[in-house]
Amino acid sequence: MIASVFGELRRRPWTALCVGLLTSVAAQAASAADCPGHPDAIGTSRTIVVDPRAHPIIGTMQYAKTLPLADREVVLTFDDGPLPKYSNQILDILAAHCARATFFLVGRQASGNPEGVRKVRDAGHTVATHSQNHPTGMDRLPLDRSRQEIEQGIASVTAALGDGTAPAPFLRIPGLRVNDGIEEFAASKGLQLWSADFPADDWRDVSANRVYELAMQRLERKGKGILLLHDIQPRTVAALPRILHELKVRGYRIVHVVPATPDRPATPTEPQQWLLHPPSEMVAISRWPKVPKFAFAGPAALPVPALSDLDWHTTDLGARASRRGRGVPLPPAALWPRQTTLPPASTLAALPVPARSIFKIPESAGMTLLASSARQAASTAQARATEVSSAKLAGKSRRHGRAAAQPPASAGPAAQAPQSAGRTAASKPAVQAKRNGRSVRVAGLKKR
Ligand SMILES: [Zn+2]
Repeated sequence: MIASVFGELRRRPWTALCVGLLTSVAAQAASAADCPGHPDAIGTSRTIVVDPRAHPIIGTMQYAKTLPLADREVVLTFDDGPLPKYSNQILDILAAHCARATFFLVGRQASGNPEGVRKVRDAGHTVATHSQNHPTGMDRLPLDRSRQEIEQGIASVTAALGDGTAPAPFLRIPGLRVNDGIEEFAASKGLQLWSADFPADDWRDVSANRVYELAMQRLERKGKGILLLHDIQPRTVAALPRILHELKVRGYRIVHVVPATPDRPATPTEPQQWLLHPPSEMVAISRWPKVPKFAFAGPAALPVPALSDLDWHTTDLGARASRRGRGVPLPPAALWPRQTTLPPASTLAALPVPARSIFKIPESAGMTLLASSARQAASTAQARATEVSSAKLAGKSRRHGRAAAQPPASAGPAAQAPQSAGRTAASKPAVQAKRNGRSVRVAGLKKR
C-alpha cells in the first residue's frame, strides 16, 4: 500500500508533464487547424459578444473598465483606415495568422475607398467608426460639431458597406480626446466608446522595432488588454508580423469582439471581469482621509468631527472611478477600514484641544538619533575589528606553530588598535553630524 502510494507520487510529476505537453500540443494543433496552411499562426482563440448599452465606456488608458478578458488575452484594434497601400498589407498579415481584429475607420477614408471597408468586413473583422474627418482635439469642439463628426462617420461607413448593414456600434474618438458631452452623446446613441489598454506609439516617428518593443513591453506590464495600432502606418505593417509571432511564442491569445444583436446575446460576464485587475484586499485605497486643520490657540474645546470629514466612507468612489478612472481600477466601496460607529453629535459636542506639547518634537531628538547611530557604528566597527584581529592572531599562531601564550608586547597593540580605530570611526561621523545635522552617519555606516 505504502509502496504504491510512493510509486504514485513518483509517477505523478511525469503524468502531469505528459498531460501538460498533450494539452499544449492539442492547443497548438487546434490553432493550426483553425488556420489551414499556416502552422505558425496565432489564430483567434475566441469571440466575445458585448452589449454597448451595458458597458458604454471601456479601456484603462482612460477608464476603470475594460473588456472582460482573461489573462494573456489580447484584442487587436486598428485606427484611421482604410488606406489601400497599408491597410491591405495589414489585412494580409492578419489573414496569414487567422487573427481577427476591430477596425475603427474614418468616414472620409471610407467614402474615398469603399472597397477597403468591404475588404475589412469580408475578412471577418469588426468594422467600427472613428469620426468623419478625424479632427484633432474633438474635446475642444462645440458639442454639435462632435455629434456631427460621429454621426457622419457612421453614415459614410454604412454607405461604403453597401449592403444596408451598419458598422458595429463601437466608436473611438480621434486621439482619445473625449469630454463629458461626447461620452454622454455616445451612450445616448447606444455606442460603446472605446479607449484602449495600451498603445504602441505607431503614429509617432519611431522605428518598426520600437513599435514592436512598446507593444510587447506594455502588454507584459498589464498582462492582457486592448492594443491600439494604426493600419495606415508603414511601421505598423513592418512590426505586426513580429508582434503576432511573439504573442504566440509568449502564450498570448487573440480575442475577437463583436456587438450583441437581437439574435446574438452578449457573452455572460460578472461585473468584476470588466476591471483589468479585479480589486482585492491587496489593492491600496487611493485617497487618504482629509487632513484636519489644527488650531493651537483659541477655544479649549473643538467640535467633534462630522462624519463627512472621514471621507473614506464615501461610497461613490467606484462610481466616480468608472467615469474617469485614469486606469486605476477601484473597489466599488473602500475595503478598509470597516464601518465605524461614532457617537451621535448631540451626546459629544466637543473634544478637548490637543496640548501643544503633543506636536512638539524636542530639538535634541535629532542629536539623540545621531548619537545612538554613531554609538552603534562604533560598537559594530569594534566588534568587526576584534574579529579580524583575533583571526589574524589565530593565523599567525598556526603559521609559527606557537601555543596560545602570546608575548604581551605583541598582543597589546593588536588588541588595542581596533578600540582606538572604533573610537576614531565613531567620533568622525559625530563631528560631521554636528556640522551638518543629517545623514552623514549613513555614509559612515556604508563605508564599513
Ligand atoms: Zn485616429
